[in-house]
Amino acid sequence: MAWKGKRGDKEAFGGGCKMIFWADKLADEVIKREERLKRVKNLRVESGIGASGIPHLGSASDVARGWAVCLGIRDRGYDSDLIAFSDDRDGLRKVPLGFPESLKEYIGKPVSHIPDPFGCHESYGEHMSSLLLESLEKLGIDFKFYSGDRFYAKGELDREIGLALKEAERIKKVVEDWLGQDLRTVFFPICQSCGRIYTTRVTGWEPGKVFYVCDQEFEGKVSGKPFMVKGCGYQGECSFRDGKLAWKVEFAARWSRLKVCSEAYGKDLADSVRVNDWVSKNVFGWEPPLHARYELFLQKGGKKISKSVGNAITPQDWLRCGSPQSLNLLFFKRFTGTREIDLNSVPAYMDEVDWLEDVYFGREKIQNERELQHPKRLFEYIHYLKPPKKPGIHLPYLMLANILRMVPDLELAKKIVMELKGLDETEELEKRLRWAKNWVGERKAERPEIKPEELPALSELAEWLEKERDAEEIQGKVFELARKHGLKPSEFFQKLYLILLGSPYGPRMGKLIQLLGCKRVAEKLRESGPAGI
Ligand SMILES: [Zn+2]
Ligand SMILES: [Zn+2]
Repeated sequence: MAWKGKRGDKEAFGGGCKMIFWADKLADEVIKREERLKRVKNLRVESGIGASGIPHLGSASDVARGWAVCLGIRDRGYDSDLIAFSDDRDGLRKVPLGFPESLKEYIGKPVSHIPDPFGCHESYGEHMSSLLLESLEKLGIDFKFYSGDRFYAKGELDREIGLALKEAERIKKVVEDWLGQDLRTVFFPICQSCGRIYTTRVTGWEPGKVFYVCDQEFEGKVSGKPFMVKGCGYQGECSFRDGKLAWKVEFAARWSRLKVCSEAYGKDLADSVRVNDWVSKNVFGWEPPLHARYELFLQKGGKKISKSVGNAITPQDWLRCGSPQSLNLLFFKRFTGTREIDLNSVPAYMDEVDWLEDVYFGREKIQNERELQHPKRLFEYIHYLKPPKKPGIHLPYLMLANILRMVPDLELAKKIVMELKGLDETEELEKRLRWAKNWVGERKAERPEIKPEELPALSELAEWLEKERDAEEIQGKVFELARKHGLKPSEFFQKLYLILLGSPYGPRMGKLIQLLGCKRVAEKLRESGPAGI
């Protein structure tokens, strides 16, 4: 984590496990800094929301982590709100893969001024941001939503736009000196004639009004290929409410206007944040918020998750297969470093939530007190600091997934699990089965490796199971076959559990096979061989 400002006295705001977790550390830093600055009562945390493409896990993670800091601040007795600010006045730069190519006529226009290609929302931008908002609501995150488009239209940033235009030369010089970049303009008017925003150039301004000409060009992308967009040549004037600040200035304007005390950012924005910090302090008179730099998520295989490349898993995808807590765990477990993520990670995160719960309720022993504190606090955070009072049911995810592969009927699978685990019918059980069923979906089962010497025993067991047998009989038969074929019984049992449940252990074998149904198990055993047995 990259810290801005100095690390202070670690025990100042409660010690113990509250000092080990990153969100607690950040909350302490924010509080200490704001007390020193003596400026606001509500310590606001901001998170930006992209509205140009389908939101992926990384987008939801930004907001969820902001929420964690907010919770940490509240936990220390201070007020804190989370602001989710939609970048829906951004111009569309690319047509995302999988979207109609006809969208290219809108490249360069603000995403909130483009019709929704799916027809269900007011605009393209609203469609995209509402997908993210929906997942944040599913997670139970409490946030205040701002639409950038409406924010500008209402004149909320008029003061900041005036100041930025006044100080434009100083700002451009900072950008040039620090980054070696040419900041063409601090403000982009929306062309009244063609509706584009990145093709305009400011030629002059007076309070509340900007003069511009639409004569610039910029490179967009369609289906991954460059697509040049040219200005229409229109000359005109517009109010401060009909345009948008450049990125090197807009963060600062929002921080100053909304009195933001903390905003985390990804590594790719580091330069922009540096300039914005300077602008915030020197142009708008707002000491910039405390920043932390977070990790980026990668798709398995090392590709950066990109909103426009279309390789992204959405939060909705995850929440169809796993609990909100498992997704929070993914977001909160670590703050730095890079992680590879796809839906194959769901079972591990679901099981880890169960493990954390065991640690939290003292069912899992950890000797070292310090090692115990982090998982305990992590467990509290994945429940937004309102952990359950008592432990819930725990079921290995892959066990459920494997049972559902063999017994796709949810009701029947539920009965089997209840019988196997001695559980009552509960909502929690129902949810877990549904998540696992969705996850199994089209996914192919991973086949455990079968050794050649195991094949005859598996084949004979499969044949013997063609008739219905009772639990005790089955238990005895498995032992008998292991010995007959020169296999270690413990290893043969493990292999059977792997085939049937996806884990090397399980309930008593005879009962398991009887509950799953002998014929079904026979079929499963046959499928498990290299080319079937
Ligand atoms: Zn829509
Ligand atoms: Zn134009």
